[in-house]
Amino acid sequence: MEHNPSGIFSRTLVRILFISIVCGLLYWGGYSLGYPLISGLLVGFIAVLLSLTIETRKAYEFLDWLRTPDLEPSAMKGLWSDAAYRVQQVLRYRDKKFQQEQERMEQFLSGIEASPNGVILLDRNDQITWISRAAAKHFGLDPERDIAQRITNLIRSPDFVHYLNEGLFLSPVVLPMPYGGQRTLSVTAHTYGQGLKIVLSHDITERELTESMRRDFVANVSHEIRTPLTVLNGFIETMINLRLTEAECERVLVLMKQQAERMQSLVSDLLVLAQLEGSLRPPPDLWCSVNKLLQRAFSDAQGLSKGQHQLVLEILPEQEQFEISGIESEWLSAVGNLVSNAIRYTPAGGQVTIRWTCSEDGHGEFAVIDTGMGIESAHISRLTERFYRVDGSRSRDTGGTGLGLSIVKHVAQRHSGDLRIVSEFGKGSTFVLNVPVSRVRRSQKNVLMPQAA
Ligand code: ADP
Repeated sequence: MEHNPSGIFSRTLVRILFISIVCGLLYWGGYSLGYPLISGLLVGFIAVLLSLTIETRKAYEFLDWLRTPDLEPSAMKGLWSDAAYRVQQVLRYRDKKFQQEQERMEQFLSGIEASPNGVILLDRNDQITWISRAAAKHFGLDPERDIAQRITNLIRSPDFVHYLNEGLFLSPVVLPMPYGGQRTLSVTAHTYGQGLKIVLSHDITERELTESMRRDFVANVSHEIRTPLTVLNGFIETMINLRLTEAECERVLVLMKQQAERMQSLVSDLLVLAQLEGSLRPPPDLWCSVNKLLQRAFSDAQGLSKGQHQLVLEILPEQEQFEISGIESEWLSAVGNLVSNAIRYTPAGGQVTIRWTCSEDGHGEFAVIDTGMGIESAHISRLTERFYRVDGSRSRDTGGTGLGLSIVKHVAQRHSGDLRIVSEFGKGSTFVLNVPVSRVRRSQKNVLMPQAA
């Protein structure tokens, strides 16, 4: 169908022409019969009536169609069809626009939903108009049921109510997460539009935990350093104020040396930890010989034990040697720490075994087994925490810093492995350092066979 103004105009002209011809014919008929005036009026009246009736019927059709404008206006003719067509065009344009806006709105909302932060929108009376899923979880709200509820009726924490009523919103308010166990929320509010508000919630449990760990760490380091410093200071004062014999002087100097060494090992362990935390992930294609590693750990053990323990090194025969990937010095530090602990916590005469095995599935295991004092099960899960000691004085007396097992755990994790501890109080302990399959392979070179001690 044609829907342009010139088409409409030409069709209207044709229609007028047609009605004029019909009227002319009727008038000419009446004139021939001798009633020209009456027949002229009658013809004109009938023509107007006819035209009005037709247009009124079309107007009703048009109104009917307007109720369901999705249909094609094909049943309508002439001017009404054009009007219907225009209306339909406008409606379709609006529909398209509306759909585009709807899509944008949905994208926007799903973007907010994807965020781990919660969002609640409030109207001028602090009644909820929208709740994101994260906010619902944070505050234990229902995104449908709680719409139009006043927020302070649902979140009743006095701190939050005061924060919202005060309306300053200078800094976030920190709240315990309702129904969230020990979790903590940081909540901020902002005003926008005409008196509307947006409330943002953010789960800061991990951040708080890290912060408290950092505080504990600093306190522990300070404490660990302050103790030997105080002792050193005491000795220095003694040497200044008292006249000591040569033998006494020598004894004091030995004690001072011990304290200085303690501080030194603490600082060196702290540096190792800092380096482990700050360096890149160990490369997967840098290989080192397991046997060489074990031999070095074994000779360190001999130095530490000073012949007081029975030391055993169990390694595989030459044709079955292995290599592991990663940073050799880190693996050595991990195994070395386990060996040093085994010797320090095993009384003289006890046995310490160092073993490497490769399981059927291809993962490797360094095991350090001692027949020492063992550890009560309650302590085992906490041993890898920094500065955690079962027996503080024994640890310090033997030169421990409380950081050894944290270093081992760190090294294991950096190489995608883990540390397993099995211990029986009074009987001994087994520390197993797991090396994942991806970091173990059969030796590519012929390495010298080490000697079992
Ligand atoms: P430390 O420097 O105190 O030895 P570690 O982190 O190496 O620190 O060990 C943490 C604690 O675990 C030690 O203080 C000790 O109480 C306990 N421990 C570690 N290894 C052994 C072991 N082989 N036998 C008994 N206790 C151990």
